[in-house]
Amino acid sequence: MGTTWPGQGKGVIAVRVGVPRTLSYFSFYPLWKALFEGVGAEVVVSPPSNKELMDAGVRETVNDACVPIKLYHGHVEALKDKVDILFLPRLVSLDGKVTLCPKFLGLPDMVRYSIAGLPELIDLRLDLKKGRHELYRFLYRVGRRFTGNRARIAAAIRAARYNIQRYRKLLLQGLTPEEAFSLLENGHAANRREKGAGIKLAVLGYPYALYDDYVSVRLLEKLRLQGVDVVTPDMVAEPALRRMGKSLPKNLFWYYSNRVVWACLYYLRDYSVDGIIHVTAFGCGPDAMTNKLIELEAKHSRQVPFMTVTIDEHTGEAGVETRVEAFVDLLKRKKGLL
Ligand code: SF4
Repeated sequence: MGTTWPGQGKGVIAVRVGVPRTLSYFSFYPLWKALFEGVGAEVVVSPPSNKELMDAGVRETVNDACVPIKLYHGHVEALKDKVDILFLPRLVSLDGKVTLCPKFLGLPDMVRYSIAGLPELIDLRLDLKKGRHELYRFLYRVGRRFTGNRARIAAAIRAARYNIQRYRKLLLQGLTPEEAFSLLENGHAANRREKGAGIKLAVLGYPYALYDDYVSVRLLEKLRLQGVDVVTPDMVAEPALRRMGKSLPKNLFWYYSNRVVWACLYYLRDYSVDGIIHVTAFGCGPDAMTNKLIELEAKHSRQVPFMTVTIDEHTGEAGVETRVEAFVDLLKRKKGLL
């Protein structure tokens, strides 16, 4: 077992665990949260991304890192003095087949060598290529850092798995992660949908780009306020995504990139979308291939209008808004709605 904390097990002081509100947060927060709370820890999440966090991240990171990695460093900086322990897992493979991009793999090392004064880190490795029980083993090892009570850890893992299943169902129903978190925690979610404009758009990208309002310059919200019906990769059921992957002669090497490509194929093949927007982060190596692949698919399969929105540290809301409005107008004209 790992560190023993003051008051641990006596119900006096809960260990505070910091979870950065970016990268895997948008895919796994309900899992991490239920696990930590189940073993008696208090979960502290960094604030929503903002300019200060981005500036702090830029200061701490190497120049050629992508925007999400820079921002991640800003979130760690915001948490490090407020928590007893930081949760920075080394995510290697989440589907047992491919890995995440190299920056994910080296993330705990990058943080450790870039930021001084860190508290204890949980940087355990999650690699589902090691077998189907690896997720349980990983969660168990995390739980052991807080308690030696095996039954308590097992119960926390059950609760965590139940929570993540509920979360994924909510995403499939069209909720954004923040709406789903709110529903899971408070029993209600804000409904920001406006009256339909007759346009359906697939907005594709990594969860930490699409759902982080600062990174995406509130793109999803802007589209919805225009009445656009927005769909994302997380709204495609897992078996359907995998079918798309099997239909390709070869897949990419990176987990999140494959999901973007597969979702693109899915929405093209079910003839349901009027256009595609790909949100990509400046400095992202895998996106150089992902973007070209989905652009070609959109062009060749059905001539579906396609737009790329590239986000960097200096992207302004107004510029993106103007381009997106023009794109939506083009789609409406094409459908005879204007
Ligand atoms: S996939 Fe791209 S955006 Fe994501 S961490 Fe890797 S380089 Fe950065």
